[in-house]
Amino acid sequence: MSAERYEREFRQVLELFERHGSALVIGHVDPDGDCIGSMLAIGMMLEAMGKTVRCFAPGDRSELFDRMPGAHLLVPIEQVRGFDHDLVVAVDSPTTGRTENLVRPCADEDVVNFDHHPTNEQYGCVNIVDETAAATTMLVYRFMKTVAPERITAEIADCLYLGVLMDTGGFRFQNTDAEALRTAGELVGLGAHAYELAHDFIYMKRFRTLKLLGTVLDSLELHFDGRAATMQITRAMLERTGTEMKDTEGFVDYGAALDDVELIALFRETAPGEIRVSLRSRNDHDVSRLAERFGGGGHVRAAGLTIEGDLETARRLVLDGFAEMIR
Ligand code: 5GP
Ligand code: MN
Repeated sequence: MSAERYEREFRQVLELFERHGSALVIGHVDPDGDCIGSMLAIGMMLEAMGKTVRCFAPGDRSELFDRMPGAHLLVPIEQVRGFDHDLVVAVDSPTTGRTENLVRPCADEDVVNFDHHPTNEQYGCVNIVDETAAATTMLVYRFMKTVAPERITAEIADCLYLGVLMDTGGFRFQNTDAEALRTAGELVGLGAHAYELAHDFIYMKRFRTLKLLGTVLDSLELHFDGRAATMQITRAMLERTGTEMKDTEGFVDYGAALDDVELIALFRETAPGEIRVSLRSRNDHDVSRLAERFGGGGHVRAAGLTIEGDLETARRLVLDGFAEMIR
């Protein structure tokens, strides 16, 4: 991303931050590290500017995020509904639907949209959307560095670093480009704790989470002569190990670790009759297109969708989709 590309938009966002007294910062359902990092970094900047701020993302989140600086800004839904605000900042959310419509397209109120999904619907009054950025926090960093570099505290640097770390899979995925590494380096220079964040969010696992991983790996299957792989997580597996679905972040990457596998699907029984599917591609097969057929979306190499039905139905639909892509 060229530094100049969003210069004008960055000034517009700063002007909105300065003009308004209260802001709601919203992320997508079941927020990941990039989403939380973007929300908290923006939340802390606004707080330091003397604004009233609340951050919220629907669904479940790992309690690990409560350790992050700025986590005090995360509120329960009840404190979102009654919150009188004059600015909405959406992060990491390609559509307003991904925020469960807590964000509405720009009309009566000012909406800023920071995102890196190619399918972003540009619903903001100001849209900072760059699909070449490995993480949304890289766009937030670019914004802060351009308009208010003195505001990037070590706490904000930690949050921005978390997004780059998580969305590049610990600097392993194909999106790990020069800018991602440069951004990470600059953030460490500003005080981000690279070791502690990698330890807490990537390396460290609780006993019960590893036990669950064991059963999930046991469900691993190959299809189409080893060109595709599937894994599944049922409610029963969670109950047996005393875990919750939010403990399964990153599990899909074990399927993607298989040599020669091109397409990977992880099926998660999120509720009876509801299956969340995580898709990964190891080459240029575009899994976001398959996800979109079922109302989901994402990136070329990482996408997600929800299927109403049982595990068998979901498996059949996805494997049929894979068969078309591989053929
Ligand atoms: P995950 O499999 O890790 O849940 O999601 C992988 C990628 O797909 C993420 O970038 C995420 O934002 C996107 N994604 C997952 N589920 C959905 C969905 O239901 N709709 C859209 N638009 N994107 C999704
Ligand atoms: Mn992201």
